Amino acid sequence: MATMTPAAPRPLIAGNWKMNGTLQAGLAELGLLSDRIKSTRGLPEVVVCPPATLLHPAVLALAAFGAAQSVGVGGQDCHAEAKGAHTGDISADSLRDIGCAYVIVGHSERRADHGETDAAVEAKARAAHAAGLTAIVCIGETLDQRDGGRTLDVVSRQIAGSVPAGATAANTVVAYEPVWAIGTGRTPTADQVAEVHARLRADLVARFADGAAFRLLYGGSVKASNAAELMAVANVDGALVGGASLKAEDFWPIVEAKISR
Ligand code: PEP
Repeated sequence: MATMTPAAPRPLIAGNWKMNGTLQAGLAELGLLSDRIKSTRGLPEVVVCPPATLLHPAVLALAAFGAAQSVGVGGQDCHAEAKGAHTGDISADSLRDIGCAYVIVGHSERRADHGETDAAVEAKARAAHAAGLTAIVCIGETLDQRDGGRTLDVVSRQIAGSVPAGATAANTVVAYEPVWAIGTGRTPTADQVAEVHARLRADLVARFADGAAFRLLYGGSVKASNAAELMAVANVDGALVGGASLKAEDFWPIVEAKISR
């Protein structure tokens, strides 16, 4: 009897603009990206995560450019509570209200700058799910942890602690982002990425009925020159891109690396 091979998850390329981008320049880049995307078939899912000030303008601009179906918008963080006295924070409900479909949680910069623990990240992911958002949950080891041979233990612990029990392939994406590769121009070898993603896949399959269908993104110094190699690694279903997502001309070749032809 023939065995059915499960369909590969639809790839996802997400851009994290971090604390960069002004209204005029940011929307101009989205215009350029939209022009490319509208004339291309076989696209991966594409998401941009601009700073909070640009989220709603980005949603409106993508609709005006006729690209809202092709490019989603996501926040870079959300609070674990749905509302309340949390000055300066943004709730997942508010992100959803303005048209976001995604939110990044547990980025290593937030873990480092704001002391976010796995438990805090898990609570944020739950809030995202409750609001109807897909959570992009970030994990990754430091250089010390890699040099100490602890990478697989660290990422297994992080994925167990940061991805909530109610996660599904539809509401959760996991991004493996080695901390030492973010913004440094350094990347792991394809074999190192394959080893970590195989572990993450096994952890997801062991824990969730649809674990094989979760998208596993690689993030950390992805750029035009290395995207094809990194995106071809087994169990890499896309990328989370920082610096190279700010300009459409840099981001586009990374999107192209996951176009199905
Ligand atoms: C990131 O911050 O998520 C990231 C991957 O950054 P960069 O691509 O600039 O390394």
